[in-house]
Amino acid sequence: METNYETIVIGGGVVGSGIAYHLSERYKEGVLVLDKKYPMSGTSGSTQAWVWVHNKTPSWYAEFSMYSAELYPYLSKKIGDVEYKRTGGLSPFFNESDREKAQKLAESYRKIGIKIKVLSREEVLEKEPYMNPEVAGATYSSIDGNVNPFRLIDMYMRAAKRNGVRYSTYNKVTEIKKQDGKYSVVSDKGAFECKNLILAGGTWSREIGDMLGVKIPVNQLRGQILVSEPLKPFLNFTISGLRQANNGEVLMGYSMEEAGFNRATTLDVIQETANMAVQYVPGLRKAKIVRAFSGIRAMPEDGFPILGKVPGQENLYVAATHSGVTLSPLIGTLLTELIMDGETSIPIDRYSLSRFGESEFY
Ligand SMILES: Cc1cc2nc3c(=O)[nH]c(=O)nc-3n(C[C@H](O)[C@H](O)[C@H](O)COP(=O)(O)OP(=O)(O)OC[C@H]3O[C@@H](n4cnc5c(N)ncnc54)[C@H](O)[C@@H]3O)c2cc1C
Repeated sequence: METNYETIVIGGGVVGSGIAYHLSERYKEGVLVLDKKYPMSGTSGSTQAWVWVHNKTPSWYAEFSMYSAELYPYLSKKIGDVEYKRTGGLSPFFNESDREKAQKLAESYRKIGIKIKVLSREEVLEKEPYMNPEVAGATYSSIDGNVNPFRLIDMYMRAAKRNGVRYSTYNKVTEIKKQDGKYSVVSDKGAFECKNLILAGGTWSREIGDMLGVKIPVNQLRGQILVSEPLKPFLNFTISGLRQANNGEVLMGYSMEEAGFNRATTLDVIQETANMAVQYVPGLRKAKIVRAFSGIRAMPEDGFPILGKVPGQENLYVAATHSGVTLSPLIGTLLTELIMDGETSIPIDRYSLSRFGESEFY
């Protein structure tokens, strides 16, 4: 295998593969993706995969998410069917007292051009007839949706490979050295050299950063999801808590737990998830549950994406974020612009690693 590359991406999840694909549209040769397992083995293979703008706060982060959601229809045209559905998103509330909070959210979004409607009980039930009739209302946004994460990564990889990107899987990066202005990336299957190095290791970003003496403050946050048997299509919207996939399965849950890298599923969270699902959609009470799984989110210390150049290091880039499914088309586009043109069409300064202060280098 070729050992010299223009760009190496460490991590082939939705973020790394998204970057590799977008880069490959601008230059056809010289990109290598290294993954210690395979591209769906990390968080990208254990996600709800909503393409979600609704409820993101503050509004500048919602705006950033909106730009990415807007790219999805074009992405499907370019790389193939990723089962993206702009279903619209519903966030139900069950107390009339929550209506004021919902109205405030709608108002703050209106200023940045995202339309959030605060629905009455009747409007919710008209849109989503299987919702609990005790619902008080919901916020609704037409831009939300969901995607099949497995197809998304598969299509990114296929399109990237057609454009000349190489993948090396089951190949863990163990050491990174900087020599003569180039990066030497040492892996289980040998050493590779590159000019540009992109760190897209998701929840493992901290340990990859350590190899370069760069502190990438990403923590782990577990999420558990329950999956029903395939049911006839009956849910119209992506609901903040559950969604029905194209094959009829209902994916329920969105827990956030500090459990390190432990991917166990636990009865307490399964029980809370089932209660939430039944409160939202009482008909699910009789659904057969066929599996439960968990994933480990990459959660930057302040909750916002870490994107762009690593300060003080030439040709070194980082992309570590939660909501990577929502953000991957935008992250791929912007990192490609940054590497190829030296600037981005949408400012990403606020997402720089530098916001964590002077201590990014050990
Ligand atoms: C329960 C749950 C629900 C979620 N729901 C949503 C949602 O609805 N919408 C949304 O947008 N996001 C959601 N997310 C978050 C989203 O799934 C992630 O942000 C996204 O998958 C992260 O992609 P990634 O490519 O950064 O990470 P990963 O998919 O984890 O990819 C990182 C890759 O790096 C590789 N790697 C790590 N270390 C090394 C090394 N040393 N050498 C080589 N390779 C290495 C790993 O093998 C892995 O494949 C959810 C997450 C969870 C857990």
